Amino acid sequence: MIDRPLTQHLRQDGSPVFMTDYRGGGGYEGLRRVLADSSPEDCLQQVKDSRLRGRGGAGFPTGMKWSFVPMGEKAGVGPKYLIANADEMEPGTFKDRIILEQDPHQLIEGMILASYALQANVAYIFLRGEYTVAAERIETAIKECYSAGYLGENIQGSGYSLELHLHRSAGRYICGEETALISALEGKRANPRPKPPFPQVSGLWGRPTIVNNVETLCNITHILTHGAQWYQSLGIGQDSGTKLFGASGNVNNPGCWELPMGTPIREILEQHAGGMREGYTLRGFLPGGGSTDFLTPDHLDLAMDYDVIGKAGSRMGTGTMIILDDRHCPIAMVRNLSHFFAQESCGFCTPCRDGIPWIVQLLDRFESGQATEADLALLEEKARFIGGMGNTHCALAPGAMEPVTSALKYFRDDFERHIHDGRCHYHSDVGGR
Ligand code: SF4
Repeated sequence: MIDRPLTQHLRQDGSPVFMTDYRGGGGYEGLRRVLADSSPEDCLQQVKDSRLRGRGGAGFPTGMKWSFVPMGEKAGVGPKYLIANADEMEPGTFKDRIILEQDPHQLIEGMILASYALQANVAYIFLRGEYTVAAERIETAIKECYSAGYLGENIQGSGYSLELHLHRSAGRYICGEETALISALEGKRANPRPKPPFPQVSGLWGRPTIVNNVETLCNITHILTHGAQWYQSLGIGQDSGTKLFGASGNVNNPGCWELPMGTPIREILEQHAGGMREGYTLRGFLPGGGSTDFLTPDHLDLAMDYDVIGKAGSRMGTGTMIILDDRHCPIAMVRNLSHFFAQESCGFCTPCRDGIPWIVQLLDRFESGQATEADLALLEEKARFIGGMGNTHCALAPGAMEPVTSALKYFRDDFERHIHDGRCHYHSDVGGR
């Protein structure tokens, strides 16, 4: 039995796997069997039993999310929708891109299976606009599916029908938030919507809608092909399955690897990422992309599981780590991240729209050597307020503040040294930022 299902088809040279090779490797076998032998209820139960958690960052149980979608007569009149969230823009995150560019049929098979389980008849891939290579390959794969009878009317003679469309995002980070994504897909400004109602009940054009991350949907392919028990057994910690983990920064081998859920951070960084480059020492890392809290070398022996990382004071997020070394300024790093999030604010609520640029201004004062103790106190107060859950309309601002508040916690001596010295001492070392 395979132990690295998500990457089993990928080639060393990065060339795409299209229909002939995908089917040659067993692709669409699971779909044929499910459509012939399993009911939508069976599929939902398998996904619940698998204990799959969403791979987009929040880690919400996928089966539970699906269970909120009204089925049968309760769904009322009109379509239900499935949307693959392929708007991958989290800083430091490039895991979905690998699947989208190299194995688009894996995603499409997962989407057909998920749509069947939810009895949705229309599905969309909402793709980051800059992913042009992925767009071409997905278009090719969708055409192949219509020709082979895996999409369209009466799929494989099952009586089940599905339309699948590729939508290329106009390009904002906030489109990755599921309700903002739905607004964008409807042709509106990509502002997040209040919840409730949740999209499972009233989403795209007011109809029941599930938005799942690309990696999550790829997992559906393997769960419904090989079963929930097998899927559970892939994890070596508290969570089921495998995960696309990654690392970027001054490590010897930055990249992305499929590993069991629960793999220790030390193994990811030292074995797969090859350890720190010569001359660089690990100071900290953001474990799950640019909107997660720093962890430090003291946390290297933790397992990469959602709850373990949560208890350590951060989030597993996308599972793609950004490394901070001893030759780069942590303040410059969080300043750059804050600048990104300030640009990407949708502008709907004041603490995010005006507060994050204020944080950038304060961090700039540290970097230019003008900061005072009063600036440090102000930075702490404002970062905590902007990051406070419930103080903003969506999670962009709290996520943006996670690197800042955790930098204040772990690298406070750097902030104080910038005040005391009246300069950033990293600039003279390595050009700092
Ligand atoms: Fe928009 Fe407010 Fe969310 Fe920021 S926190 S992206 S301003 S809704």
